[in-house]
Parts: sequence; structure tokens; C-alpha cells
Amino acid sequence: MHKLSRATLCLNGLGRCLIAEKYVSAIKITSRGFVCAEHRDESGKNEVYDVIISGGGMIGSAMACSLGMDPNLEGKKILLLEAGNKKVMDKVPDTYSTRVSSISPGSASLLTGIGAWDHITQMRCKPYKKMQVWDSCSDALITFDKDNLEDEMAYIVENDIAVAALTKQLDSLSDNVRVQYRSKVVKYAWPMPHQAADSIPWVKVTLASGETVQTKLLIGADGPNSMVRQALGIPTVKWNYDQSAVVAVLNLSEPTENNVAWQRFLPTGPIAMLPLSDTESSLVWSTSHRLAEELLELDEESFVDAINSAFWSNENQSELIETAGSLFRSALSVLMPSAGSPRQLPPSVAGISPKSRVMFPLGMGHASEYIRHRVALIGDAAHRVHPLAGQGANLGFGDVACLTKILSQAAFDGKDLGAIQHLLEYETERQRKNLPMMAAIDLMKRLYSTNAAPVVLLRTFGLQATNMIPTLKEQIMSFANK
Ligand SMILES: Cc1cc2nc3c(=O)[nH]c(=O)nc-3n(C[C@H](O)[C@H](O)[C@H](O)COP(=O)(O)OP(=O)(O)OC[C@H]3O[C@@H](n4cnc5c(N)ncnc54)[C@H](O)[C@@H]3O)c2cc1C
Repeated sequence: MHKLSRATLCLNGLGRCLIAEKYVSAIKITSRGFVCAEHRDESGKNEVYDVIISGGGMIGSAMACSLGMDPNLEGKKILLLEAGNKKVMDKVPDTYSTRVSSISPGSASLLTGIGAWDHITQMRCKPYKKMQVWDSCSDALITFDKDNLEDEMAYIVENDIAVAALTKQLDSLSDNVRVQYRSKVVKYAWPMPHQAADSIPWVKVTLASGETVQTKLLIGADGPNSMVRQALGIPTVKWNYDQSAVVAVLNLSEPTENNVAWQRFLPTGPIAMLPLSDTESSLVWSTSHRLAEELLELDEESFVDAINSAFWSNENQSELIETAGSLFRSALSVLMPSAGSPRQLPPSVAGISPKSRVMFPLGMGHASEYIRHRVALIGDAAHRVHPLAGQGANLGFGDVACLTKILSQAAFDGKDLGAIQHLLEYETERQRKNLPMMAAIDLMKRLYSTNAAPVVLLRTFGLQATNMIPTLKEQIMSFANK
């Protein structure tokens, strides 16, 4: 099943990127249009928008800001629909939220460009300069840092703060973007790609209130269970991992500079500690569903013991791997005497914030098509990844930057924003970026989900060698920052 799914992923994703898209676009345009078309009697009498974004999470809200600020899109009618309440934050909460994201410099610069980053930094955000990743089955480790330590490697931002900052920015763009909260979409009707007597001209959107609106371009930003994607019948490769993530806010034993992100791969899954302040960090512990449930049930003291032991215990190491690993390390250090980074020790944990323990099931998903006639998918609606590389939201912000650039150019050229020709450019560009990242994340998850000696040896040698080659590490960092 998985083999088939991954083959499909490659064919539908990479294959589509690599085929000369100009020659096949005509076929794609026709076939996609007919697959999704639905005939409707009603003609659009309701309000018509140039763009409607369905879903105002981090990615949909960023999309709305980005379009609302683009000078070429001035005068376009843009509507953001969000099922939930408006997330305003008059005052930064005293306690940290459990849901945080590691935001790459690339995403930070997008958020700066759309005016939200200042709001985020004024509220709360923690930069970090280094990341240490290591294996619990061997001594192998890799450290990522910037040569110039004044640069930040990434930033830990609470998801609520990111959405509140984007909401504040949307308030200031109210002349350009209309936002409707508590507006759940319950139905979509799709136009035909070519003029047909019985086709509706635009995408018709029906809200739970019964209100209907229409749009020349619908952007689906409605998360991993996207109704837009499902209603269009877009083939999606997806599977649930055998893991859930337990998240919590951790109190450290003593104040530290706390500017390192830590991640250790255990055979049951990775455990990560991300800095929030001098005294607090955020836990993301991906582990088997059974262990995750047990961790939620533990009293605070036992939970803290389990975290410290997961970061410090050597119970998964074997003498054979240790000897082979240290021989390999010695050989490498003869070849490259000054290379490699010294091991640092993570801070120990003393407690957790009350009621901060929550669990999320983890899965992977990829829509084989990000676009249809008058529709584009962005964020988790198009792709969902394991949190081990902290990339889910960053990939979504990449979608926002790319789609804005393409729609801005289309508006400048006086083209129809919903036309499939330029939407195909968006799909091709993003699948080229997203698919290699998704494949790398899935491979990492599988490579580290075992303590079988040959695999442990292989990854130990690989990690040690990578740690010794600065240019390779730089390439990995720049791949993650795009
Ligand atoms: C444990 C964990 C840790 C993570 N850590 C990181 C990290 O460090 N870095 C990183 O980059 N990513 C991380 N991620 C991934 C990141 O959280 C997601 O990629 C990101 O939140 C997706 O945002 P989104 O806006 O696409 O979707 P969502 O956040 O799911 O938002 C979708 C929105 O659409 C709305 N909606 C849904 N249906 C409708 C409808 N019918 N009508 C109207 N509105 C609708 C919903 O109310 C919601 O607001 C992590 C994920 C997990 C689970």
C-alpha cells in the first residue's frame, strides 16, 4: 500500500514537475476542467470577488495580507473566510502556548514584507542560533549553526501569536481585504473551464449561514482535511504515521541563554526541545500512540523524568555501534582535523506548565494537483508533513510567496486571475520545492524509526560525515530555509 502510494506521489508530483509543462498543459487544462466540472442551473446573482481565501489559519491569513498589500492587486475584491472566531490579542498572555512553530528566515522575511513580523516581535518570539541533532542509538550528532553568530538560524513563534499578528495586519488592510470570521463554508460549486451555456461563470461558495458568494479565484487554505481539495476530488497521497506528538511547555532547571534547538532521535520517534525564553522551552515528542497516551497520563514528576531520560539515557546504545562509530570518527578527524562540532549538552527539565500537555496524531499528505480551473491549494490543504524538521508552516509560507508573485504578475498583465495557465506555474514551482522536502522528511522518519544495527551504523556514519563537511551542512540549511 505504502509502496504504491509513494510511487503515486512521485509520479503525480515529481513527474509532473519534470515533464515539459508547456507541451502538456493543454491536456492537463482540458482533463482537469472536465473532471471537476459540475453543472448548475443558477447564474451568479451574488456578490463576486476577485479572490476568496477559504481558511484563515496561519497560511490563509498570510495569503490574505500578502494579496492585500500587493500594489498590482490594488482595487481587487478579496475576501477571507474563517470558520473560527477572530483571534485578537490585546495583551500577550503570561503563559506560553503549547502550539509553536520554528519559523525559517525565509518565512520571517515574507512576514516582514507583509507587515506582520513587527507585530510578532513586539508580542513574543525567540530566535535561536544553533540546532543539535543526535542519535540515541549511537554517539553520532550533527550541529547546524551560522558562521556569523549574529545571524539567527530560525525563530520559535507561538501559532496563536502568528495568527494574532496577521489578524492585526488584516485590520489595517480592511480597505483591500474583507474578513469574515465564524463563516464556515459548507458547499462549493465549480464552473466549467470553457464557455458552456449551463455553466456558472465563477466558483460559488455557500456558507453555513446560507449566504452565497462567488469568486474568480478560490484559494483553499483550509488545512489538512481541506474541504476544497475533497470537493474537487483531487487525488491525494496520504497516510497516518504510527506516531503522535506530545507537546508541552517545559520549565528548565536553571536559566540559560537558551538559544539552541535540540532534537534527539529515539527508536520510537524524535524528541525536540525548542527555546521559548531563558527559563522555558517547548517540547515536541513524537512517539508511538501507546507511549503518547501513557505520557499524557503520567503525573508531572514522572513526565519530567521521562523527558530527561529521553534526552540523556544511553540505554539504546550498543558496544558494537559505539566502537564502529568512534573508529569512523577518528578516521574522519585524521582526514579533516579541524572539522566537526563539539557535543553540547541539552538543559535539564524541572517541571512543566500546568495543563500544557496535549497530543496530536501525525500524518503525511500530498495533493497530486495544487490547482484546478479557478482554484489553488496552499499550506496543509496541499501538503502535510511530520513535524521532525519543523517545515509544515514554512512550506505553506513558501506557497504564499510564490502564489502572490504569480497573481501579481497576472494582474499587472491584465490577465484573469483564475486562469489555469498561470496557476500551473504556481503548481510546478511549488511542487519542485515541496516534494524533495517532503521526501527527505519521510525518509528521515523511516531511517530513524529502527534500532537495527546495519541501519544504525549507516546513519551513524552518514551523520558523522555530514557533521564534518561544512559545505554540505550549509546546503542542508539553505534547502531548509527556502
Ligand atoms: C506538533 C506539531 C508541530 C509543528 N511544528 C512546526 C514547526 O516547528 N514549524 C513549521 O513550519 N510547522 C510546524 N508544524 C506544522 C504547522 O503547524 C502547519 O503546517 C500549519 O499550522 C498549517 O497551517 P494552515 O493554515 O495551512 O492550516 P490550519 O492551521 O489547519 O488552518 C486551517 C484553517 O482553515 C479553517 N477552515 C477549515 N475548514 C474551513 C471551512 N470549511 N470554512 C472556513 N474555514 C475553514 C480552520 O478553522 C483553520 O483556521 C507543526 C505541526 C504539528 C502537528
